[in-house]
Amino acid sequence: MANLILLGTAAAIPDSEHENTYMALVAKQGTVLIDCVGTPPVRLAEAGIPLDSITDLLVTHFHPDHVSGVPLLLMNMWLQGRKTPLTIHGLKHCLDRVLRMIEDYACLTWPDFFEVIFNVLPEEEGVVVLEKEDFRLATSPMVHLIPTIGIRIESRPDGRAIVYSCDTEICDALRHMAKGADVLLQEAAGDSPGHTTAAQAGTLGRQAGVKRLLLIHYPLGEEIGRQMIADAEANFGAPVELATDLMTIEL
Ligand SMILES: [Zn+2]
Repeated sequence: MANLILLGTAAAIPDSEHENTYMALVAKQGTVLIDCVGTPPVRLAEAGIPLDSITDLLVTHFHPDHVSGVPLLLMNMWLQGRKTPLTIHGLKHCLDRVLRMIEDYACLTWPDFFEVIFNVLPEEEGVVVLEKEDFRLATSPMVHLIPTIGIRIESRPDGRAIVYSCDTEICDALRHMAKGADVLLQEAAGDSPGHTTAAQAGTLGRQAGVKRLLLIHYPLGEEIGRQMIADAEANFGAPVELATDLMTIEL
């Protein structure tokens, strides 16, 4: 059985209790990190995830609140003596820029640096990126300010599904990806281009028939949080939760 552990839940501005949004899928065969921000070794240690358990890194899009921690992660893996390869998956737009960022730090030229493999994903719906014994992970292009992917993770024994919208407006690809999900982690950054409001998240969740709706990548503040929950629940027609840092979602 795999678990999705939320390492951060804030939109672009984090605070001491909410890192920028990123997460780890912890499975039998290893850990898949989804985006990488802040000081990843600190948050991963808090979540009990060893760096050497990470086999894959999936980068959703090239914005600082999603990928700015990649060079630090690589440096820390190298300092811990990593020998096994790391595969980084993402769209060409993002991978080109992540590679440039790594090259600017010259990481890959450091002595005995481990192999980093880049897997360019097509901008198509339902691209199966990883298929393991206990899960299948697929991506679909979303509608954001730059090329961006959302993610659907399905449990292989029973088909349970967790969907993470990533940063996006409501769009058909998101509706398809969210359909019938057991858990929808829907971004709720608010009313601005390339993003979703809590009210829209509620409507999407109801129309897609999702069982559990969590808002993620949201602006911080207690009053804002209460309003977002009220807005989302009014349209979802059932309780809605705010995702929190270090929350574990069982697949
Ligand atoms: Zn973002």
